[in-house]
Amino acid sequence: MEQKLFDLIYASVLAKEHTYDGIYYTCVRTTRIFCRPSCRARTPYPQNVRFVNSSEEAIELGYRPCKRCKPEEAGKLGPDEVMAAKVDHLIERDLSCPMTLNMLAGQLAVSPFHLQKVYKRVKGYSPADHLQAVRMKEAKSLLAQDRLTVAMIARAVGFRSPSHFTVWFKRDSGCSPRDYRELTGKGIGTNE
Ligand SMILES: [Zn+2]
Repeated sequence: MEQKLFDLIYASVLAKEHTYDGIYYTCVRTTRIFCRPSCRARTPYPQNVRFVNSSEEAIELGYRPCKRCKPEEAGKLGPDEVMAAKVDHLIERDLSCPMTLNMLAGQLAVSPFHLQKVYKRVKGYSPADHLQAVRMKEAKSLLAQDRLTVAMIARAVGFRSPSHFTVWFKRDSGCSPRDYRELTGKGIGTNE
């Protein structure tokens, strides 16, 4: 597991948040117990933690389920909802990395066809639609902040070329990134 992802999940362990419940499980090497990330019973040191993708995997590795958070019992989410939540998490955690359906499927160890079908059934739209929507939301928010150049924003939302970014942005929102910045920064209708 890459450090960035580890840090993100570990932050939810520290905060005892439910964000990754059902998506990752916290295995604690020192106690050989595994928990939901949100478990209130223990806050393990990061060096003792290993995150796995399923309670079956934790049990296979020799960990016992925590009696307090009962990670072996199904949470609110069924397996399809968990997979869809994992896809969203992979898409949203780093927009600057180009992400394809094949890459998502590879990370979740399922076929691209299966992933697409399950995701669409749960969400009503495709992973690609979600990626586009998240990119656009982030691009608009960065443009409105007026701190980064358009080229920097293009990279931040996963475009290698600012001109591709501009074409995409214009097609989807009806105006260029610069016009959008102009409109949000100064307010429509004022020329000051
Ligand atoms: Zn626990």
